Amino acid sequence: MKIRYFDHAATTPVNRDVLKEMLPYFCEEFGNASALYGMGKKNKEIINLSRMKIAQILNCKANEIYFTSGGTESDNLIIKGIALANKRRGNHIITSKIEHPAVINSCRFLESIGFTVTYLDVDERGIIDLNQLERHINRNTILISIMFANNEIGTIQPIREIAEIAGRYNIYFHTDAVQAFGNVKIDIEKLNIDALSLSGHKFYGPKGVGIVYIKENVPFIRMEDGGHQEKEKRAGTENVPGIVGIARAAEIAENNFNEYNKKIKYLRDYYFWQVENRISDIKINGDRKLRLSGNANICFAGIDGAKLLARLDERGICASSGSACSAGLIASSYVLLAIGVPKNLTYGSLRVTFGSENEIEDVEFLVDNLQEIIEQLRN
Ligand SMILES: *Cc1c(COP(=O)(O)O)cnc(C)c1O
Repeated sequence: MKIRYFDHAATTPVNRDVLKEMLPYFCEEFGNASALYGMGKKNKEIINLSRMKIAQILNCKANEIYFTSGGTESDNLIIKGIALANKRRGNHIITSKIEHPAVINSCRFLESIGFTVTYLDVDERGIIDLNQLERHINRNTILISIMFANNEIGTIQPIREIAEIAGRYNIYFHTDAVQAFGNVKIDIEKLNIDALSLSGHKFYGPKGVGIVYIKENVPFIRMEDGGHQEKEKRAGTENVPGIVGIARAAEIAENNFNEYNKKIKYLRDYYFWQVENRISDIKINGDRKLRLSGNANICFAGIDGAKLLARLDERGICASSGSACSAGLIASSYVLLAIGVPKNLTYGSLRVTFGSENEIEDVEFLVDNLQEIIEQLRN
């Protein structure tokens, strides 16, 4: 059976060029980058070259880039690392209700050790209110963490405006840009961001490698105690193949930016148009315009999302539902609840995220099957 994959917000396949570039670093150029012989030193150089590539793409300095094991670690390192290093200045953090669990749960941990956290509401599009943000700032606020784009509904936040407010009050600003990179142009200098997280496997790079950007002179402490790697900020033997891979994937994302986004936006808009015309009682979640080019999130009234996913899977279609199924109980997506979707509608949500391998025939196949399955499930 042909598999049709529409879950690029969950992960993406590794680009073949990326894999090709990584391969020599597994069996041949495998030296430890801290070693003092040629094979090690060469790998240290490769890491720094990768760092420079990333810095150039993001428009920051190479010494502001650190490599991690992924988006989750990057969020943890930035949020806990900045909070703990600045606790004498204050103990208050502002974030939003629709952040990724890596951010929300890092904040929850900080609350457990004496920090206070404000979780901002979002409007029905999934966007924070800048006035509410400003009202919650107090003299103890040290960090604002607001995601660049949401992983469920694709909503893009007003990052430059948030950074401007943070800057005015001398508060550090972090953005989880894991979903945004490759879909939104990110110029760190222009946006005036203090810290940012990225993950390789969300833009056709390998899993298990991520990036942290932290502006020079922003104090933060490391989360791993160990060796001297990454200027004492992230201990552990460097993942050389992963680092080479993420840098190459970033380069490809940058070079193909316009073409790639044009394509997936076309597929996404075609999908919206088809679903709106062929299936009744639906609700498109998130903003129509201010959203990631490949993201579609729709609620189908009267549908159980888990059943829908299982039926789609039987036909080779991979998609996602916002609702997490834990211990046999379906829990509503906290993101959909935060944008005001009625609880009974949240159970029937379907997130479809398009990517480089999808073609228009795949979208036709998806909509044909979706229409048929929804009719069956509704009867
Ligand atoms: C996927 C994702 C993460 C986590 O990244 P991993 O590399 O899978 O740990 C964090 N934030 C957002 C917005 C994501 O989509």
